[in-house]
Amino acid sequence: MSLDDALEAVLAMAARVDAPQTVDTFDADGRVLWEDAVSELRVPPLDNSAMDGYAVRCADVPKAGIVLPVSQRIPAGHVGAPLAPATAARIFTGAPVPQGADAIVMQEDTEPADGGVRINAVPKAGQWIRRAGEDIALGSTILKAGTRLTPAALGLAASIGLGQVQVARKPRVALFSTGDELVTPGTVAPGDMPPGSIYNSNRYFLRALLQRLGCEVTDCGIVPDNREATIRVMQDAARSHDLILSTAGVSVGEEDHVKPAVEYLGELNLWKISMKPGKPFAFGQIQRSGSSLEGSAHFMGLPGNPVSSFVTFLMLVRPFILRLQGVQDVAPRVFPVRAHFETRAADTRREFLRVRQNEDGAVELFSNQSSGVLTSAVWGDGLVDNPAMTTIAKGDIVRYIPLAELLQ
Ligand code: AMP
Ligand code: MG
Repeated sequence: MSLDDALEAVLAMAARVDAPQTVDTFDADGRVLWEDAVSELRVPPLDNSAMDGYAVRCADVPKAGIVLPVSQRIPAGHVGAPLAPATAARIFTGAPVPQGADAIVMQEDTEPADGGVRINAVPKAGQWIRRAGEDIALGSTILKAGTRLTPAALGLAASIGLGQVQVARKPRVALFSTGDELVTPGTVAPGDMPPGSIYNSNRYFLRALLQRLGCEVTDCGIVPDNREATIRVMQDAARSHDLILSTAGVSVGEEDHVKPAVEYLGELNLWKISMKPGKPFAFGQIQRSGSSLEGSAHFMGLPGNPVSSFVTFLMLVRPFILRLQGVQDVAPRVFPVRAHFETRAADTRREFLRVRQNEDGAVELFSNQSSGVLTSAVWGDGLVDNPAMTTIAKGDIVRYIPLAELLQ
């Protein structure tokens, strides 16, 4: 199965969560807007000065050096009187331009003079005036439903007076790891680790990734490699979660109990996705029983190898979770960059190579691309999306996806 087909299939199932939540705009960073935000005012509300200086009528200043009496003083937050003919108004940045004035002369182009202010530069009509509505027009949509709010978007929402916003409620995700070899860091010291055991690393990056994507995470810990335990955890989690996410145990070994458990509780598709790292990926639905929520919970099973788990999450789970919140455009941006490396053999699968951009903007390849080597994902600042059956020669233009795109 191609990654694109797998993505299409999971996105087809990603209906938006059932309800919005009203949150303080201060707390809405990273959340997804539920409805269009429409402005009930213009921003800025009035024509105003972009400079500290003097508001004038251009017709009164046909040449440099003219002295005008100063008829009023207008600080920000105050509305002045109409500008008396052949006078200037002292004005400050952000203050409304008085009626009749058609230009601002910046302070630096003026000097005090007997009887007023000397204007040393001939003003052009409209200069240093910020027009009413030049940022936001009355009735315009400033942020569309499905927008993931950034710090700048919070500021924009505030600029039209939104103290609160309606956002999609947080998807509730239950996370568990399978594997009898797994040990939780902090419970056993490195020197005391039983032979054959490893620390559970997947759980740590997955929980953080889910939280960054705005999920409420229930960590169900490590589930032993047996059918009953796996069924019990899934059945419980399905009652109150939108998505159940597991790692490992989705291959076809007899120690892999995820597949039979999901099949028992609902439906499962187990795909061999033509991607590297990656490959086994399970997607299904688990029927809810005895819960107030009707229907079913989604299930996604990631591969066990840490880099496979990491990359599969970014390529399939991340877009799914964004879509659950109503984000339409879930594809990461891809940038053409020069490869500062070569690959020897073409792979039959589409590869996501861990790379790092150098000072010239070209990308270097991490030396060990094994799916168990998590160091590559820390060293790297991005992935090269390399099509199947394609070798890369030094200097080739490749498709680079910055991790910053995927991890925010
Ligand atoms: P599996 O998918 O169960 O065949 O596991 C594939 C590989 O990933 C094995 O080497 C596992 O030990 C390793 N692995 C599975 N789960 C984790 C985890 N949570 N953290 C780190 N490595 C894991
Ligand atoms: Mg296993």
